[in-house]
Amino acid sequence: MSVIRQNLQAVQRRIDEAADNAQRPAGSIALLAVSKTFGADAVIDAASTGQRAFGENYLQEALDKMASVQAERPDLMLEWHFIGPIQSNKTRPIATHFDWVHSVDREKIAQRLSDQRPADLPPLNICLQVNISGEASKSGMMPEEVIAAAHNIAAMPHLRLRGLMAIPEAESDPQQQRVPFRQVHALFERLRADGLPIDTLSMGMSGDLDAAIAEGATIVRIGSAIFGTRDYAKQ
Ligand SMILES: *Cc1c(COP(=O)(O)O)cnc(C)c1O
Repeated sequence: MSVIRQNLQAVQRRIDEAADNAQRPAGSIALLAVSKTFGADAVIDAASTGQRAFGENYLQEALDKMASVQAERPDLMLEWHFIGPIQSNKTRPIATHFDWVHSVDREKIAQRLSDQRPADLPPLNICLQVNISGEASKSGMMPEEVIAAAHNIAAMPHLRLRGLMAIPEAESDPQQQRVPFRQVHALFERLRADGLPIDTLSMGMSGDLDAAIAEGATIVRIGSAIFGTRDYAKQ
């Protein structure tokens, strides 16, 4: 069995164990395989185990990879998630080629994605990225901005608002890792109490997926634990 396939199994076991510890149903947490900097072959290898959802940060790299995968394995029905920073002049190809966007951090970007989503495709699934650590240098909406934006974005015709995404600062202590995830979850519950039909908390990466699951993550975004260490020059 390939290393990628072994890693996928190990990550799935970690997810199942974290779900069990949190007394959450097995299967309530989806695995997004973050394939950035890795090639089409890595995606095809992972897909051969049944992995369907792949996350990408860089638009051009993602489009090239999708085309290669499609050329080599037109039978694979993959789901592509954009998780990287979004420039407003790049929204059209994102709206055209992706199924999900996790990194929406401005209403203006959401409006463009809605306007540019092709009419023959289902609504684009959207998560709002929350800047939970409160650092001005990080991307994401401030929590106090999220409420009004979520209501406006939920009303956009070609989008389906699914929930929130966060990338907390790296932290090695497992208990401390849970603090920002708990804050994102509280904001998510607040939006649900407002009546928004959201169902997704996209949080947790290779180093903190257990803490994220303990705090309610429904999608974990895992790169290096599946595909290996990224080439620093390329990330
Ligand atoms: C790269 C990346 C990931 C995956 O990170 P790993 O630590 O490799 O698991 C998850 N989410 C986002 C937004 C990323 O950019």
